[in-house]
Amino acid sequence: MRVTFYGVRGSFPVAHPRVTGVGGNTSCVALRAEGAPTVIFDAGTGLRRLSKELVHEGFGDGAGEAILLTSHTHWDHIQGFMHFAPFYTAGNRFTICSRASHDRRLRQVFEGQAARPYFGYGLERFQSKIAWKPVTEGESFELGPYTIKTVRLNHPGIAVGYRVEHEGKAFVYMTDTAPYAQQLLGEGFHTKQPETDPERIALLERYGRELEQFVQGADVLLYDTFFTAEQYAENPHWGHSTPDEGIRLARQGGVERLVLYHHHPEAWDDVLEGQRAEHQNKHAGSDVLVDLAREREWLEL
Ligand SMILES: [Zn+2]
Ligand SMILES: [Zn+2]
Repeated sequence: MRVTFYGVRGSFPVAHPRVTGVGGNTSCVALRAEGAPTVIFDAGTGLRRLSKELVHEGFGDGAGEAILLTSHTHWDHIQGFMHFAPFYTAGNRFTICSRASHDRRLRQVFEGQAARPYFGYGLERFQSKIAWKPVTEGESFELGPYTIKTVRLNHPGIAVGYRVEHEGKAFVYMTDTAPYAQQLLGEGFHTKQPETDPERIALLERYGRELEQFVQGADVLLYDTFFTAEQYAENPHWGHSTPDEGIRLARQGGVERLVLYHHHPEAWDDVLEGQRAEHQNKHAGSDVLVDLAREREWLEL
């Protein structure tokens, strides 16, 4: 399996001379396996660059098949959705997975961003065949040749983490999430005050254990490292995490490779490269290789 990064930023895309190394597009990663549908994680602005490649991989002729797994539908994870050319070509087939909404069907959730006056037209322009698959965090399912597992992430509105298994390899995509440490984030508004209710503290511990089990034995863990330790201390209720927490999770799960991801929009190339090196050195002697998600780069599993 090959995992390629097309968008690695969190919150909003950035254009600046000091991000040209790591890249400024928002969340989008693709997993390709021989003879299997392409798996796309999130539809941030990076999706547009991916679409330029997919037109040469059968999607330009209407012979493409892909699975889109969205962590959640905050803007930085859907901004590329309406600009994805393969949706407009008849014959292409997609399965779109996203967290089930209480009050709306999945198609409506995605249609909302395309409705006037936010966009020029709606999903009726899509010529491809789309199957909508609402996902409840914690469930597992088979799609094509893949086994896909899901987990609840600690984020305002709740996000979903995915584990994709194929031919003995496992890739975990885990963004956006705060550590299950201080606040239990979910529906509703959250302040930075730590939880005091024993029931909510028990839930924090339970979800934290589930996350640890979820990553066990994975080959690669791609993780939300939006914050430095200092930034996290300031805003623990924003639903983002740190490289230290990613390393902790990877080590306890016996994961060989951690990929820092969903970078802060104001983290320049030198800062991110420095952070990666610093954390690799800090944990020298552990078995975890600390890597940095950079646009246009890939890794093999
Ligand atoms: Zn995000
Ligand atoms: Zn988010």
